[in-house]
Amino acid sequence: MSVQKTVEAARTAFNSGMTRPRTWRVAQLKAMNDMLVDHKDDFIAALAADLGKHPSEAWLTEIGFLTAEIAHTIKHLEAWLRPQKAAVPLAMQPAQATTVLDPLGVVLVIAPWNYPIQLLLAPMIGALAAGNTIVGKPSEMAPASSAALARWVPEYLSGAVSIVEGGVAETTELLEQRFDHIFFTGNGRVGRIVLAAAARNLTPVTLELGGKSPVYIDETVDMIAAARRIAWGKFMNAGQTCVAPDYILGTDAALAKLAAELPKAIEDFYGTEPAHSLAYGRIINDNAFARIAGMMAEDLGEESGSALVSGGRTDAATRYIEPTVIHVDAEAKLMEGEIFGPVLPLVTVGSAAEAISFINGRDKPLSLYVFTEDLEVRRDFMEQTSSGALNFGVPVAHLSIPGLPFGGVGESGMGSYHGQHSLETFSHRKAVMDKPLSPDTLSMIYPPFGSFKQQVIKRFVAPAKKLRNH
Ligand code: NAD
Repeated sequence: MSVQKTVEAARTAFNSGMTRPRTWRVAQLKAMNDMLVDHKDDFIAALAADLGKHPSEAWLTEIGFLTAEIAHTIKHLEAWLRPQKAAVPLAMQPAQATTVLDPLGVVLVIAPWNYPIQLLLAPMIGALAAGNTIVGKPSEMAPASSAALARWVPEYLSGAVSIVEGGVAETTELLEQRFDHIFFTGNGRVGRIVLAAAARNLTPVTLELGGKSPVYIDETVDMIAAARRIAWGKFMNAGQTCVAPDYILGTDAALAKLAAELPKAIEDFYGTEPAHSLAYGRIINDNAFARIAGMMAEDLGEESGSALVSGGRTDAATRYIEPTVIHVDAEAKLMEGEIFGPVLPLVTVGSAAEAISFINGRDKPLSLYVFTEDLEVRRDFMEQTSSGALNFGVPVAHLSIPGLPFGGVGESGMGSYHGQHSLETFSHRKAVMDKPLSPDTLSMIYPPFGSFKQQVIKRFVAPAKKLRNH
């Protein structure tokens, strides 16, 4: 079916009203759950083919992540969909005021390659729960995952979700159609293309983008535990995680202690030869490999002033980059853009205050991770920085808390999702007012405005008085 016909079919399905009942929505969520369970082996094999993902990592970050989100949504959907009461001011009484969630219509979900199953289906959970029909565009960079999704989604979610496979040409064609919401996950360059296309139809957009997510660490923490947490968040999926710690800021003393522990954590996780570890992934394609290996080589060049702490080996044939830690200065190549690979730069700062101004001098991050037991330093990061999320003591894990909104701010994106936040993202919260015609209390504000009415309006209906005493 052509792209245009696919979108038309999604609109016809939505306009039929079939998505309105909660029973339909729950049935779709159950169908998605069962697709994941029935074909888990296909999805796990696809993730291994695309990214060398270990089955346990696939469970944790893709299949099991999605089934947990589905279960949470099914459990709470009835309560979330209940109309919410709003208070009615005295002058408008008697009346009832509520808000109800309306589905938006046809939603486009465009996904990237790094968590190719999760990032296509997780937004769809909210979009289905909200009663929309969906067109999904998996990433062409993860061809095995894209093919598995194109094969199984239509079988389980026919009429609710269509999949359009392809790359730039197909996405461009999709963006020429009118949607009621576009949910895009990927880089900011394409995010701008999506936003410009959406503007033509005033289509609301969620942009889940990336960027450099910093870590600040000081000497007050248990350095062994912190190193293990950081290595886990950084090197899962071979560093190709939007919320992976991108670089570490700390004083020389704190970084020296961390640099002593990180190689031990890496060895515990992946052995002395991570190339032989089934738990360690590969870089998605040759271009990405050349980009990351190139930055690393440049920063380790003779005149760079950088120092290799551990790792550094690469193999272009298998797109392998060893988990690598490098001490660099702020001008290093690795500090320019998002690394999106298994290379972790350490950058010295003089203090927590200097770390805060370093972070505030750059784009607002998707996540910011702070490792300190110092309550004042924690408070300073909380009050003086802006990021999609701020975690103390753990990277990445905030994604698995369905009550937390997941999304960026500024250059790291706009809008958010997960759990109830997804439902709000994919719905319009409609204001509903119901005022009985009798008694006709509004007659006090109808013209003509005699002096009595003027007094009533000024004193009771719309009073205005100074709030400051000077
Ligand atoms: P990608 O190259 O797969 O692109 C994402 C989508 O955009 C794909 O479906 C692709 O087909 C489409 N696309 C690419 N070029 C296009 C064009 N010119 N016009 C229209 N569509 C186009 O993925 P990527 O952008 O390399 O993904 C990595 C980025 O995504 C990183 O910056 C990462 O931090 C970010 N990311 C963010 C999140 C999040 O949840 N915030 C999650 C994962 C990745």
